[in-house]
Amino acid sequence: MPQNKFDVVIIGGGVIGASIARELSRFKINIAVIDKASELPSGASRANSSMIHGGFDDKPGSVKAKFCVKGNAMYHVLKDELDFHVDECGSYVCAFSQKEIEHLEKLLGYGKANGVPGVEIITGDKLREREPNVSPEIIAALWSPSAGIVNNFEAVAAFMESAQINGAKLFLETQVTGLIINNDEILGVHTNHGDFLAPIVINAAGVHSAEVSSWAGDTSFKIIPTRGEYFLLDRTTKGFIHSFLFACPSDAGKGITVAQTAEGNLLAGPTATPQEDPEDHATTPEGLDEVLRGARRLVPNFPVNLNITTFAGVRANTDTGDFAIKLLDKPRGFMNVAGIKSPGFTSAPAIAEYVSGLLKQELADRVEFKVNEKFVPERKHIPRFLFMSNQERAELAKKDPAYAQIVCRCETVTEGQVIEAIRRGARTVSAVKMWTRAGTGRCQSGFCCPRVAEILSRELNIPLDQVTRHGGESRLLVGKTKEFILNKD
Ligand SMILES: Cc1cc2nc3c(=O)[nH]c(=O)nc-3n(C[C@H](O)[C@H](O)[C@H](O)COP(=O)(O)OP(=O)(O)OC[C@H]3O[C@@H](n4cnc5c(N)ncnc54)[C@H](O)[C@@H]3O)c2cc1C
Repeated sequence: MPQNKFDVVIIGGGVIGASIARELSRFKINIAVIDKASELPSGASRANSSMIHGGFDDKPGSVKAKFCVKGNAMYHVLKDELDFHVDECGSYVCAFSQKEIEHLEKLLGYGKANGVPGVEIITGDKLREREPNVSPEIIAALWSPSAGIVNNFEAVAAFMESAQINGAKLFLETQVTGLIINNDEILGVHTNHGDFLAPIVINAAGVHSAEVSSWAGDTSFKIIPTRGEYFLLDRTTKGFIHSFLFACPSDAGKGITVAQTAEGNLLAGPTATPQEDPEDHATTPEGLDEVLRGARRLVPNFPVNLNITTFAGVRANTDTGDFAIKLLDKPRGFMNVAGIKSPGFTSAPAIAEYVSGLLKQELADRVEFKVNEKFVPERKHIPRFLFMSNQERAELAKKDPAYAQIVCRCETVTEGQVIEAIRRGARTVSAVKMWTRAGTGRCQSGFCCPRVAEILSRELNIPLDQVTRHGGESRLLVGKTKEFILNKD
């Protein structure tokens, strides 16, 4: 098979592209995942609340409800199979008035009809027994025990690495610039690194998915990029609250939430601000004010003084309000898995299973979907030194002394982990961060960044000044400040 000829090309390696690639790698087919970024995840899958929703928000019978509830159940199995962190913490939607209790009752009805396990309404006092830091003004809450929070970096890495173990190829820094179509048949894609030929092309391009869809002639939906801003607090806040807290949703969305991440940081956000530019990830004073107000409404003494960073993610909201999942008649072989807004992270594995089944059923004349008998379902993440016992640490360091060298003090990340991340494909400082947590702690990489850069330079055999933060022009070093010139005379 020529180098750039595949059975399936997936545009976009976010949680949707990566989980579809893994699902399709159950078949003996050649899969290419193409992403313009230098590291994954890079789009909405990188910056979000990472909640594994229970599935009571969406109307019974809706596409979103079906995928969300199924996806939730799949994560509880996948987290062990693919070794990524999920904190099975459950969630509360909090009511401050009688009118809001009526809303909880509606959500309870949705939850029961959607098959969400264990949903119930509890009193405000019962909630405060479990979560002493929530507002005394909360009078009732909807409890959903199957909700959780996932480490989104680990989950995307896990889906993608599992796909790669099973034969899929990943092409980073490769931008799809157009589709190759002839006689209403898809033949492949044009990229900045040449053409990739394939009889099936899947559009999982997130905020850019409407543009990609328009190249295929489908303009049935538009993307309204919608920014969500967050505060992320130090891990010393662990245990301040234990579950995912929502206020009652309004027309503007699910509102500001307060949660503890899978690793124990306190997280508050997001706003929901429509914007023109799909790539604008800046935070704003107004947005962060709104987050703080919302967080303090739920948790009055929200310890914002322990904030370590702020960030923003951009949702691929559609003007139709729904996911745009469709296998087009023309060009044949082209499928949109587009406009995947919340609960898209939760839904991803269920969407991937659906997409794989549909392609096998509808496009068997284009690609032979023979079962991959060598499919390996499991993979292991890089050792998480921070969470190991001293004995486990000592054993690891004995096997490989690089695990005895601490690189990131805040998150106790070792040189061994950084080397392993690079071996598995990390090429930038922020890719190492997503694989290992180096730089995610209180000092926000002030201490470990030069060490990580040095290791990247050494392991990749590139000059130190070519190491980037997140690819492209984001070089860390711009030149030398001092130079010694040896006088040979
Ligand atoms: C603020 C916020 C909060 C959220 N909270 C939750 C939550 O708590 N729970 C939940 O379930 N969901 C949540 N979501 C939704 C969830 O994050 C998304 O549904 C999911 O990440 C979408 O994944 P994706 O793969 O479709 O898109 P993305 O992750 O954006 O991936 C798309 C990829 O396509 C690539 N790409 C785009 N154009 C091209 C091109 N031309 N060529 C090559 N590559 C291209 C991009 O580089 C990117 O990597 C939230 C989203 C946001 C923004």
